[in-house]
Amino acid sequence: MLHGPGDLRVEQVEEPEGEVVVTVEAATACATDLKTLRHGHLSLGPYPARFGHETVGVRDDTGERVLVGDSVTCGACAQCAKGHGQLCDAMTWVIGGFAERIAAPAAALHAVPDGLDAAGAAMAEPLAAAVHAVGRSGPRPGVDAAVLGGGTMGLMLARLLVIEGCEVTLADRHPERQRQAQAFGARPVRELGRHELVLEAVGRPQAWRAAIEAARPGATVVLVGGCPSGSEVTLPAAPLHYAELDVRGAFHHSPAEVDRALELLATGAVDWRALAGETIGLEELAEALVRPSAGEARKLVVDPHL
Ligand SMILES: [Zn+2]
Ligand SMILES: [Zn+2]
Repeated sequence: MLHGPGDLRVEQVEEPEGEVVVTVEAATACATDLKTLRHGHLSLGPYPARFGHETVGVRDDTGERVLVGDSVTCGACAQCAKGHGQLCDAMTWVIGGFAERIAAPAAALHAVPDGLDAAGAAMAEPLAAAVHAVGRSGPRPGVDAAVLGGGTMGLMLARLLVIEGCEVTLADRHPERQRQAQAFGARPVRELGRHELVLEAVGRPQAWRAAIEAARPGATVVLVGGCPSGSEVTLPAAPLHYAELDVRGAFHHSPAEVDRALELLATGAVDWRALAGETIGLEELAEALVRPSAGEARKLVVDPHL
């Protein structure tokens, strides 16, 4: 339970109540969890709040293994009517994967393909956001595409762009992450040159600026990494105007994109094991989340029954 910024505790709570109760097998962690721990998040209810949004487990009622999607759209607002469910005006967030059990509306659940491990399936949540972002970028085979940032999101974006047939460059200073990018079929560099398509996956104002600066005239730039809330970004005016840059945000995903992500993980098109880090219990989570990350980009896997 999150009791406030930086205050995460493991405690006995009441059984979760909802349409379906799922016994959690694995919940993976990402940079959003660290941000949520430190500063809160729009998806979080009032404190004390349940926590964790990349969750896979077994339905108590049917025994089926499911991914617990972290959001359900209202289906009725103007955004939903346009098919932009990720922008729903009345989203219901389903948070609380770092627990032995979670309750969820049936509409949040996705069947996990046979043979896909729980930890791998949990990564369908961030991978779906990457699928959404790559869709926003309008990738075409042969396009010179660049990814700024070699964290797990940057690596997922690079892999998806490779699958789309793009020529992919990924910039990160860590040699370990450069090796991971190479294993995913991208060309690793320390710094980007100029590219036709640029996807930013760092989530800092300086990185947003660097993404604009790495864009060729007429390029599309997709801002995938969320800056800390309240951030302001200063961007160079000239390329935005004279180089006709097409700058787009990308946020979250649709249920169809979650299913596409599950399929990519199940077939091995995206190798989740290359992105899986150590498996820990709930007691270790608070300390593990704030541990400075060095070396390879890997996601923490929480097994609440350890
Ligand atoms: Zn996440
Ligand atoms: Zn809606």
